[in-house]
Amino acid sequence: MLKRIDLSRNYQNHKEEYMQAIERVCEETAFSGGKFADKFDEEFAAYIGVKAASGVDNGTSALQLAMLALGIGEGDEVIVPANTYIASAWGPTYTGATPVFVDCTADTWEIDPEKIEEKITNRTKAIIGVHLYGQPFDFGRVKEIADRHGLYIVEDCAQSHRAKYEGEMTGSLGDLGCFSFYPGKNLYAFGEAGSVVSNNIDYIDAIDTWKNQGCKVRYYHDVVGYNMRMEGIQGAVLSVSLKYLEEWTKRRQEIGWKYIREIKNPCITMQAHPENTEPVFHLFVVTVPEAENFLEYMAQNDIECHRHYPVPCHLQKAYAHLGYQKGACPNAEYLAEHCVTLPLFPEMTEEETQKVIEACNAYHADF
Ligand SMILES: *Cc1c(COP(=O)(O)O)cnc(C)c1O
Repeated sequence: MLKRIDLSRNYQNHKEEYMQAIERVCEETAFSGGKFADKFDEEFAAYIGVKAASGVDNGTSALQLAMLALGIGEGDEVIVPANTYIASAWGPTYTGATPVFVDCTADTWEIDPEKIEEKITNRTKAIIGVHLYGQPFDFGRVKEIADRHGLYIVEDCAQSHRAKYEGEMTGSLGDLGCFSFYPGKNLYAFGEAGSVVSNNIDYIDAIDTWKNQGCKVRYYHDVVGYNMRMEGIQGAVLSVSLKYLEEWTKRRQEIGWKYIREIKNPCITMQAHPENTEPVFHLFVVTVPEAENFLEYMAQNDIECHRHYPVPCHLQKAYAHLGYQKGACPNAEYLAEHCVTLPLFPEMTEEETQKVIEACNAYHADF
């Protein structure tokens, strides 16, 4: 069975280098925060092209801390796309704010700038834009709206490491960028990790304090803080992987563009990739008339597929109290019902890529 993603191949390819990096952390016992986590912060900020980064324990914390840095809390509203992983909405929810869900476009499947303005009230403080599946959202249009209404923009870059919008790295565009390094993301830790990046040093300073139990100086707690530091081992592993991110991204792009060129089946619809963006194909999502039927068909062909995501945020039980009804975000709902994710990861062989293409092309939906 070809897996949708196989992390063991990368581990086997670079095992020695990873193990040496982990060993150094152990020898120096720099386990929580510390020099290896700090070193990665510097490397990652330089890589993204921002002034500073603050490594944290996961991407969800990154989003929560970004909300805190902007002073977003009780009574505030934050615009979030309906088509995203749920954690995009947890950030504002954890700080007491309300996520306000906006539909995606019918072709890019990213937040629809046309539908943002009608959701803005005098409580709206920020827009969380998600570069979903590794495809940058229309930052230019979103920025225009944000500027007109005095709103902050937080980029959720959990799926868009090294993706570019008009030549600039995602994460460097908005007020803050939030990254996840969950295993399986384009850049990932051997465990849980995340990062908040910004060109505003004050935000990153504040986040450095919050994530560290509210201290700048040990045992002197300036604010009610959290334990959200990055682990040293994760920092060391990420420093190794960061060196390969360009190579891995190029390989993802090769496979992604090959799928786009060679999968020719009227039953299969693909995401649009506007020319001013450089997607990094975190997830290769397509829509088909009958998702479950297609999943079964692919499994019969020894190809594992998944569904990202079967329920849009506004219809999740966790947000039932917000009162959204079916039909509130029709494009996101269509996607949730029809989406299927094809295998795509840097270590996929030509043969495997070809196998996915052939299976897709031979598929006939019974509808
Ligand atoms: C993975 C992901 C997150 C959460 O990151 P974790 O590290 O798993 O907490 C947030 N937003 C999006 C879009 C994601 O894909």
